Amino acid sequence: EQPVCECNSCYGGSHCSDFLPDCVADADSGDPIFLEPFWMQHAANSALLVAGWHRMSYRFSDQSYISQVLEMHIRKLHAKVGNAVTDGRFIVFGAGSIQLLNAAVFALSQNSSVSPAKVIASAPYYAVYKAQTELFNSVNYKFAGDTSLWQNNTSDNTTKFIEFVTSPNNPDGKLNKAVLHIENAKTIYDHAYYWPHFTAIPAPADEDLMLFTISKSTGHAGSRFGWAIIKDEAVYQRMQSYVGYNTMGVSRDTQLRALKLLSVVLEGEGREIFEFAYNTMRQRWERLSNILSMSKRFSLQKIAPQFCSFFQKVRGPSPAYAWLKCEKEEDKDCYSVLIAANINGRAGSVFGAEDQYVRLSLIKSQDAFEILLDKITNLVAKEEGTK
Ligand code: PMP
Repeated sequence: EQPVCECNSCYGGSHCSDFLPDCVADADSGDPIFLEPFWMQHAANSALLVAGWHRMSYRFSDQSYISQVLEMHIRKLHAKVGNAVTDGRFIVFGAGSIQLLNAAVFALSQNSSVSPAKVIASAPYYAVYKAQTELFNSVNYKFAGDTSLWQNNTSDNTTKFIEFVTSPNNPDGKLNKAVLHIENAKTIYDHAYYWPHFTAIPAPADEDLMLFTISKSTGHAGSRFGWAIIKDEAVYQRMQSYVGYNTMGVSRDTQLRALKLLSVVLEGEGREIFEFAYNTMRQRWERLSNILSMSKRFSLQKIAPQFCSFFQKVRGPSPAYAWLKCEKEEDKDCYSVLIAANINGRAGSVFGAEDQYVRLSLIKSQDAFEILLDKITNLVAKEEGTK
C-alpha cells in the first residue's frame, strides 16, 4: 500500500499508523525539533512575510552587517533569562555559532605563527572543535587534544592555549569551567545549551568570549544564526573581520527571522517558551532515567538538582543528551551493542572519549523520543536478573 504522506521511519501503511517493530530509533543528531509544538502554537505571530524589495542591500542603513534592533533583542533576552552579562560587551553575529567557533580561534591566535596556538578541549567534547581546527590547517593554530594533557605543562609560556569550554557540555550536560589558569591561556565559552530548558542557570555567565545560538534556544537550527559576546574590543574587531571576509555577515533574511522569533520569545517576559521546553526535557529525562534505573548493564550521567535563578527554585536535571555508559567489559563497543538493539546513537570516540559511552539525542521530536524509549525499554527488559 502506497502511503499518502512521508512516514516517520518507524511507521508505515497508508496513514502512517502501522508501527514497524524492526525499525531503527534514530537518536544521533542534535536536531532540536522538541520545540516545534511551541512554534505551532505560535504559528501566526511568529510568521514572516517579506516583500521582494525588502533588505536587498549588502548593508543596513548604518553601513553595518548587523541589525541593531536584533542586537537589542539579544541583550534584552539575556537580561530576562539571566544567563549572560551583555552590558559594555560587543556582539558579533554568525551563520550559526559554528561559524563563530573558528572566528574566535582566528581572533585569539593572531601573531602566533612562530609557535602556533594550541587549541584544546576537555573530553568528552563536541567533535567540531577538532574537525574545524584541523580543516583550516592554519599556521597560527593547531588542535592539540585533551586539555588534561596540558594542565601541568607550565614550562612553555611562549605558546598560547585556546581552551574550548562547553557549558553545559555536549555530550554530558555538565556545567564545565576552564581547566587552564595560566596567563597565556584564552578561553572560548560555548554556551549553546546555557538555557533554562537544559540546565539550571545558577548565575549570568560573565566570560571574556561567549557563544550562543538560536539552534538550541528557539530550536531554529536551520536558520543558521548564532552570536558571540565579547569583552575585548580588539578580539571583537578581528572576529568581525573574519565574518566579514567569510560571508559578509549573516543573511539579512535570517536576521529578520531571528528578530521575529525573539520578539515572540520575549512576550510575557520569556516564560512561556522556557517553561514548555523545560517541562518537555524534564519529562523525557525522568522517563529515561526511570527505565535505566532498573538496568545493571547501562547507566546515565549524574547531574545534581540545582537552584535556577530563572525559575527561582531548585530544579532537577533536563539535559539535551543522554551520555549512556555500557557498564560491562564485554560491551566495550557500546555503539554496536545499541545498534544490535536498533538504536542509533553517536559513539563515545566521536567526542574524544571511550567507546563504552554513547550519546543519545533527547531533543528530537516526541515521536522519535517515544520510539527511542520503546527500544530502550525492550533492551533493559531482556537483561538477566534485572533489578
Ligand atoms: N556548539 C555546540 C556545543 C553544539 O552542540 C552545536 C550544535 N550541535 C554548535 C556549537 C553549533 O550550533 P549552530 O551552528 O547550529 O549554532
